[in-house]
Amino acid sequence: MADCLFCKIIAGKIPAKKVYEDDKTFVIEDINPQAPTHVLILPKKHIEGVNTAKPEDADIIGYCQLVAARIGRERGIEDGYRTVYNVGPKSGQSVFHLHLHLLGGRDLKWPPG
Ligand code: AMP
Ligand code: ZN
Repeated sequence: MADCLFCKIIAGKIPAKKVYEDDKTFVIEDINPQAPTHVLILPKKHIEGVNTAKPEDADIIGYCQLVAARIGRERGIEDGYRTVYNVGPKSGQSVFHLHLHLLGGRDLKWPPG
């Protein structure tokens, strides 16, 4: 998608701090971190969000969770982290290219704000 911030980051047109990459995902540090670990797992395929995803997107939506678990292990935050797909403007979703937040490295409150 020509006009998508995360597509541009994946294509290397906008700089970002890359954490990990494989054939299906691109992982970056969040520019405005809300926890000591706050990374974004981006599918390379442009999907707007989980609410508009198609049945064929189910694998990548789940796969992002496995990438998050791998990074959680690497960062040593397995004693407690959170993965979040924000859905829609009221949830705070501001970039409409699907992305999984991985937050950890501090005590996380429940319920979230
Ligand atoms: P959401 O609010 O769920 O759509 O999440 C979007 C996230 O992208 C926010 O946590 C932003 O801080 C983050 N973000 C926005 N622009 C950039 C950027 N250029 N590089 C890295 N993260 C970004
Ligand atoms: Zn995109």
